[in-house]
Amino acid sequence: MAEKPVVAIVGRPNVGKSTLFNRLVGQRRAIVEDIPGTTRDRLYGDVEWAGRAFTVIDTGGLELSPSSDMMTSVANQVGVAVDEADLILFAVDSVDGITAADEEIAQLLRAGNVAGSRARQQKPVIVVAGKADNQERRDAANEFFALGFEDVVPVSAVHGANSGDLLDLVLSKLPEPPLYESEEDDRLKVAIVGRPNVGKSSLLNKLIGQQRVVVSDVPGTTRDAIDTEIEYAGRRFLLVDTAGIRRRGRIEQGIEKYSVLRSERSVSRADVIVLVVDATEMVTAQDLHIAGDVEREGKGIVLVVNKWDLVEKDTHTIQQYLEEIGREFNFMRWVPTVFISALTGQRVQRVLDEAIGVEAERQRRVPTGQLNEVVERAVTAHPPATHKGRQLRVYYATQATVAPPTFIFFVNDPDLVHFAYERFLENTLREAFGFRGTAVRLRFRPRKLVEEPTRGRRS
Ligand code: GDP
Repeated sequence: MAEKPVVAIVGRPNVGKSTLFNRLVGQRRAIVEDIPGTTRDRLYGDVEWAGRAFTVIDTGGLELSPSSDMMTSVANQVGVAVDEADLILFAVDSVDGITAADEEIAQLLRAGNVAGSRARQQKPVIVVAGKADNQERRDAANEFFALGFEDVVPVSAVHGANSGDLLDLVLSKLPEPPLYESEEDDRLKVAIVGRPNVGKSSLLNKLIGQQRVVVSDVPGTTRDAIDTEIEYAGRRFLLVDTAGIRRRGRIEQGIEKYSVLRSERSVSRADVIVLVVDATEMVTAQDLHIAGDVEREGKGIVLVVNKWDLVEKDTHTIQQYLEEIGREFNFMRWVPTVFISALTGQRVQRVLDEAIGVEAERQRRVPTGQLNEVVERAVTAHPPATHKGRQLRVYYATQATVAPPTFIFFVNDPDLVHFAYERFLENTLREAFGFRGTAVRLRFRPRKLVEEPTRGRRS
């Protein structure tokens, strides 16, 4: 599926960036995942308007080190916006008029559009003048044309005035969605993700160095993301967002959330996610956040413990690491793990072998007969507890889809399915059929027990 274009909101503090974000994203903002140890404020949200969809990033939400001053923060946001977005909404305040900070941002936006590490396309900028609550302020908004951008749209959060116009204008400036979906794509799409400095780009370089590179600059998305196609073990792999893996420094330093954002987007494009951690630091909250995304999105995952050359090893070391990983990834103990050194190249090909294995599990289809045998045996051995005098009954199961394997359980009442019992059923399926490294989904549907045909009726 084609990836959604991205719109980034930038601006100095307190001009109403998050108001604008909320206005555009609307109700969806309420859907915030509650993952322990991660910051909860949303950085991005999806917008649908006139039959098209795009993603909005609120760069104001990017975390910065407490020591950095306002303009450094803003410069970082602008950097992210120019790198990531197809279009930039530059928020200003129609009560304050143009401030010195606004002028600096305008300059950064123009400079960012031409300078930087890579040749960039010019990104369209729309100036959004907030707090335009009355006609006088809407007229005053014309002042902002002096910032040097073609479009100035006054908006009012209070009245909701002009957000439809703004959305129309945004759509008119975004790249057109492709007219056709790309034909059957049998490439295995792999995303290498992880925190800064764990060795993602070293791993990427080793993989590219050792394998045959089929195409090195495959345009990945509507944006300036670049993928690389390689061949290994007779299969084609598309390494997703290889430009993003290599690009570092300027923005990534100090902004953890930036790399989270980037990996969330790579996760949604890939089949199998290679999550890299540093053996000397191991698993962090951010890694668990990424793993949670992988599970929610129904993808496959390979955990790579890199910098294995730095670890002092004895015969128990691997076991100790695996135990720690098991504790950390308690909710997905089925994650295959590879210990590598991207520096020496030790076992890096195993990463691709595991990715192939995981994808095969993601595509696995279980015959209905076998599935029901296993389910029936498990339910008989461990019947669900009764709840308020009622007991869950599992009548029948069937696998609806693959990638991820999705199972429908027909039951007397889906409300009687408790989390623990669902986990039990999932573990039962994993024990019987594998699914190593892939998310699986269980769905429960009500089914009235069909009346048994009366026996002997036709006597
Ligand atoms: P990225 O930010 O995740 O892409 O990380 P890099 O690939 O840029 O690596 C960060 C640093 O770790 C660099 O100095 C690498 O040379 C170093 N590094 C990466 N992989 C290994 C490894 O397997 N062993 C050792 N000792 N250093 C590594």
